[in-house]
Amino acid sequence: MSHPILTAYRSVRAEMSEACTRAGRAPDAVSLVAVTKTHEADAILPVLEDGHRVFGENRVQEAKGKWPQLKARFPGVELHLIGPLQTNKAAEAVALFDVIQTVDRDRLVAALAREMERQKKTPQLYVQVNTGLEPQKAGLAPDQVAGFIRNSERDFGIRYAGLMCIPPVDQDPAPHFRMLANLAKANGLAGLSMGMSSDFAVAIAEGATAVRVGSAIFGARPTAIPAAP
Ligand SMILES: *Cc1c(COP(=O)(O)O)cnc(C)c1O
Repeated sequence: MSHPILTAYRSVRAEMSEACTRAGRAPDAVSLVAVTKTHEADAILPVLEDGHRVFGENRVQEAKGKWPQLKARFPGVELHLIGPLQTNKAAEAVALFDVIQTVDRDRLVAALAREMERQKKTPQLYVQVNTGLEPQKAGLAPDQVAGFIRNSERDFGIRYAGLMCIPPVDQDPAPHFRMLANLAKANGLAGLSMGMSSDFAVAIAEGATAVRVGSAIFGARPTAIPAAP
C-alpha cells in the first residue's frame, strides 16, 4: 500500500485532470503547487520521491529551515513563495525561491529588482491581487494592477509571469477567479495562480495555470497557524 500522503496527492492529481477535461483543457495545462507550510520533511518526502517537484511555502524563515537540504537532495525543485514578503527579506527570498507570487507594492519591487541584479538570479514574479478588497489581506486592488505592472516595467524592466489571488473564504470563489483571469488577459499575462484545496476544480474551470494545494495532500494544519494570510 502506498503512503497516505501519496494516495491523497494522486487523488488531487486525478481531480485536476478531470477538471481539465471538463473544461476542455489539456490535462497537463495546470501546474500543481504542493503547499508544504507547517509540514516537515518526512511528510514531503513521499511526493518528492514520487517525482513531484513544485512546492509552495508561505514564510521565508520556515522555508529556509527545510528547503535548502531538500533542494540539494532532489534536483529540479521549483519553490514558490505564496505568503506575504517583507521588504527586508527580499534578499533571502530571491536566493531561495524560484517563483515569488506575492509582489504587491513598489518598495518591494525595488528591493527585489536590486537583489535580482546583485544575485544574478531572476525568479518568476506574480502580482498578488486582493480581488475581494479585504482590508486584512495583502495584494493590490484590481484597479491598481495595470499601473503597477507598467511602473515595474518602466522603472526596473520587470516582466511579470502572472497574477495570484486568494478569494474571501466566505464567498463563491468563481467570480474572483474570473476577475483575475480578465485582469491577466487585459495585461497580457499568461500565468494565473488561483485555487486551493477547497476550490481548485473551480479555478481550473476559470483558467488557472497553477493551483496551490496544501491540506488536501498533506492533511490539516495546526489551527494556530493562519491558513491564508
Ligand atoms: C496555505 C495556502 C494555500 C493552501 O491552502 P489549502 O487550503 O491547505 O490547500 C494556498 N495558497 C496560499 C496563499 C496559502 O497560504
